Amino acid sequence: MDARRRPAKPLDGPVHPRSKQHRADVGVAGDASSLKASDALPLPLYLTNAVFFTLFFSVVYYLLSRWREKIRTSTPLHLVTPAEMAAIVAFVASFIYLVGFFGVDFVQSLILRPAGDVWTADDEDDEVVVAGADHDKILLKEDSRSSPCGQALDCEPVVQKPKLVDPVVQDAPKEKVIEAVPSAMPEEDEEIIKSVVEGKMPSYSLESKLGDCKRAAAIRREALQRITGKSLSGLPLEGFDYESILGQCCEMPVGYVQIPVGIAGPLLLDGREYSVPMATTEGCLVASTNRGCKAIFVSGGATSVLLRDGMTRAPIVRFATAKRAADLKFFVENPANFESLAVIFNRSSRFARLQSIKCAIAGKNLYMRFSCSTGDAMGMNMVSKGVQNVLDFLQSDFPDMDVLGISGNFCADKKPAAVNWIEGRGKSVVCEATIKGDVVRKVLKTSVEALVELNMLKNLTGSAMAGALGGFNAHASNIVAAIFIATGQDPAQNVESSHCITMMEAINDGKDLHVSVTMPSIEVGTVGGGTQLASQSACLNLLGVKGANKELAGANSRLLATVVSGAVLAAELSLMSAIAAGQLVKSHMKYNRSSKDVTKVSS
Ligand code: ADP
Repeated sequence: MDARRRPAKPLDGPVHPRSKQHRADVGVAGDASSLKASDALPLPLYLTNAVFFTLFFSVVYYLLSRWREKIRTSTPLHLVTPAEMAAIVAFVASFIYLVGFFGVDFVQSLILRPAGDVWTADDEDDEVVVAGADHDKILLKEDSRSSPCGQALDCEPVVQKPKLVDPVVQDAPKEKVIEAVPSAMPEEDEEIIKSVVEGKMPSYSLESKLGDCKRAAAIRREALQRITGKSLSGLPLEGFDYESILGQCCEMPVGYVQIPVGIAGPLLLDGREYSVPMATTEGCLVASTNRGCKAIFVSGGATSVLLRDGMTRAPIVRFATAKRAADLKFFVENPANFESLAVIFNRSSRFARLQSIKCAIAGKNLYMRFSCSTGDAMGMNMVSKGVQNVLDFLQSDFPDMDVLGISGNFCADKKPAAVNWIEGRGKSVVCEATIKGDVVRKVLKTSVEALVELNMLKNLTGSAMAGALGGFNAHASNIVAAIFIATGQDPAQNVESSHCITMMEAINDGKDLHVSVTMPSIEVGTVGGGTQLASQSACLNLLGVKGANKELAGANSRLLATVVSGAVLAAELSLMSAIAAGQLVKSHMKYNRSSKDVTKVSS
């Protein structure tokens, strides 16, 4: 189809048919709705024009010369020959074509003017003043687009409605005064926005003052745009339950970030099939995990074992001497004292059950690593409360104990640490599968031998050469992060939750592959934190682990940990195979590099 006849592709915002953007979109200097008769011709436009121009002037010349000839020979003008008749028809046809092509546009341009509500910003260079309450006025180019500025990182504020706000500026003859308002704010909110902008009302107090979280977020967002002069138009405000995050998930919200969720699976794990939700913006990741799931599925599935389940917290306490620090260490590690300490600890929650206390001394400083089961909660709050109970109790027997902090980093939370790698934190899981040689060849497009060799040289030797801590894998953190975000886990705990050693071994006389992932510190929960939010809760529901398990506390969060390990197993298989087969760069070019012209998308 000729570009001129192609209808304009839908755009985010209203586009005037005569705007530059529209013209660029349809590819000509004219709008797609005003199609011309010449469009029906199978010739390019310039050739059609040339044909009709030539025809017009030729027949005019021919008819005038015939007219002069008839006057000279006194022949009546109304007596026409077939040739003259044909010339007259050609004259009329070419005249209609030329008037239709050039004349109508010309006349319309004189009579019709673009309506006031169309997008003229492209064609105009008017400068207008954006007023932020009584703040400095910001000079901006007028842009009445209502569409978001898309993925642009630093869009100018979107301006929708001109509004006079300052009588002084109002008098300025050539400048239009408008607000950096992406959408009209209700009258009654204007005063509050001004107070926030002027610093008279703290932004954090909006929820408690207004009693309406959505309205508080809208006002905060608007104030922020005015203060910074930066638009948040690509960040959605609507479509989110702001009440659900109050006091639990996020303070001072101004919108929410959208992350696509893809599904890998079915993952056949311990005899059940799971569709694994993965929130990611990394192309290839879901596709690759999906391929690994297929390899596992056709090989009969994977098996997982939960080795341990205990969340940890390690306070730091200080004494005047190392001897006193050691006294406390011997006291808390003495099995005879464990029962009484556990009773005090367990008062923190009906789900918290103290498992152990392991101590480390640095001079006169003591680090006590408490470990406890936490039901279906990830458990950081629970374990912290239990630790506080025990510290309060110990203070009476050890009054010289100086509690420096509830967390002394021997826990270790959200930092790579050998203690988690060796002792475990959260759920410790091992997951394995036997992949048939045929499947390795047909689905994974490589060989058992190549995979085993690559695993030894990359995941084991290569990581050892790099001095890795828990990083004896190809990309466990990719999968952990994606599932964590989809299911409302704490993404920062991806640090230790991704500790993983991937093992591959040829079995059955080298025909088949045994693959396993061992992950000692997967920190997940199905209650509390972000798990209760609508989207995250839907993803947990998909896995059948939403909320608290009614029959056995902790069963849901443990199951979730095994699913994470199963998905990691699948993804390790697939990525290692891609590398072994030399496909990595090729597949990333296919899935990570869209064929779209990125410069056009973001402009
Ligand atoms: P976290 O300790 O992971 O930060 P929270 O303390 O925010 O989690 O959430 C756990 C809360 O959920 C606790 O108040 C606990 O009593 C409640 N809860 C309800 N059912 C369960 C369950 N099956 N397992 C663990 N906690 C549960």
